[in-house]
Amino acid sequence: MIGAGVLGTMHALSAIERGYDVVHLEREEDARGASVRNFGLVWVSGRAPGVELELALAARARWEAIAQRCPGIGFRANGSLTLAANDAELALMAQACERADASARGFALLDADEVRAVNPALAGEFAGGLHCTRDAGVEPRLVPHALRRFMEATGRYRFVPGADVVGVRTSRVTTSTGAVFEGDRIFVCTGAAHQGLGADVLADAPVRRVRLQMFETEPFAPHLTTSLADGDSLRYYPAFDLPGRTGLGLQDPIAEAHHMQLLCQQRLDGSLTIGDTHDYDEPFAFDLDEAPTTYLVGVTERFLGQKIPPIARRWAGVYSQIEFTVEGPVYLRRSLDDGVELVTGPGGRGMTLSPAIAEESFR
Ligand SMILES: Cc1cc2nc3c(=O)[nH]c(=O)nc-3n(C[C@H](O)[C@H](O)[C@H](O)COP(=O)(O)OP(=O)(O)OC[C@H]3O[C@@H](n4cnc5c(N)ncnc54)[C@H](O)[C@@H]3O)c2cc1C
Repeated sequence: MIGAGVLGTMHALSAIERGYDVVHLEREEDARGASVRNFGLVWVSGRAPGVELELALAARARWEAIAQRCPGIGFRANGSLTLAANDAELALMAQACERADASARGFALLDADEVRAVNPALAGEFAGGLHCTRDAGVEPRLVPHALRRFMEATGRYRFVPGADVVGVRTSRVTTSTGAVFEGDRIFVCTGAAHQGLGADVLADAPVRRVRLQMFETEPFAPHLTTSLADGDSLRYYPAFDLPGRTGLGLQDPIAEAHHMQLLCQQRLDGSLTIGDTHDYDEPFAFDLDEAPTTYLVGVTERFLGQKIPPIARRWAGVYSQIEFTVEGPVYLRRSLDDGVELVTGPGGRGMTLSPAIAEESFR
């Protein structure tokens, strides 16, 4: 396996479960990419009907099953609430609840009192919300370590950090220091490193890179029983591509300029991970923009009805995203040589889908 993000790590786990010996190469000392910079949302609610939803449901089931054996990943089936700020958003949520696949997603339309009953920390302003019981959360900064410890215990797994892979061909991997590793099957899970391994294949592939901004607060005392999203998320997720979307009206100018939605997940220590923005134009900014952060703090405080704790850290992350079509494919898989596969491009759903994508690689 090449790449210690969630895709490479889930491939390693699927291989270990099938009895393989695994050598796992990572150019950094540890996972440093999108996989440790995300919300840890295992997000079923907004997925496109068909292939994407099926993959998300399979992945969610596998996250839960992995957590039985490896509780250190911090999986919790906490569900989500997408909060409506007005009647137009509520009307679209009502349409989503009439989808043929609404029960598979665990959708229910709630009024404001019902929202507060599900998540009592929500003491602020909203018109109601969409409850999705199938959404879940994990701890992104703990997942790689927890899974590696679990695999090491089998005696058939070796992690090699600081291994910058510069060449792959059938059965053979070479690093920048000239070290050579051999294996029957090679998976290249190098995330958004589009100019590295497989650059020639990626140059013609329908993938792009997307940069996001996020932040995390100091611990917030009240317990959020669910993940949170705001009505702007209805503008992006394919599950909400329904007639009511045209009635949503204008988006806030800052949210529109930065292609934003509110997503919020409380970490196990109580801190709130909040985002996000989407930037599609390279070269990406190297600095963080404050306006989106100020905007998201305001939205979160409006829902919670109180100030959130001071921001403890801010960061940006980049993921690789395949061009979206409802029919799929949901991610990019390309052969680089016999027995060598490049797997990337799951976009903003890579944390969610990774365990199911890895299982597909071995089928
Ligand atoms: C801010 C943010 C929030 C997100 N939120 C969510 C979310 O809540 N839920 C969700 O489902 N998805 C989310 N995503 C998307 C998700 O994080 C990604 O799709 C997923 O993590 C991609 O995993 P990966 O393993 O392909 O890539 P990465 O995590 O980037 O891992 C790739 C690894 O390969 C290594 N590598 C690269 N080149 C080489 C080389 N030549 N040799 C050796 N190693 C190499 C890199 O160092 C890196 O560690 C989010 C993404 C971002 C950026």
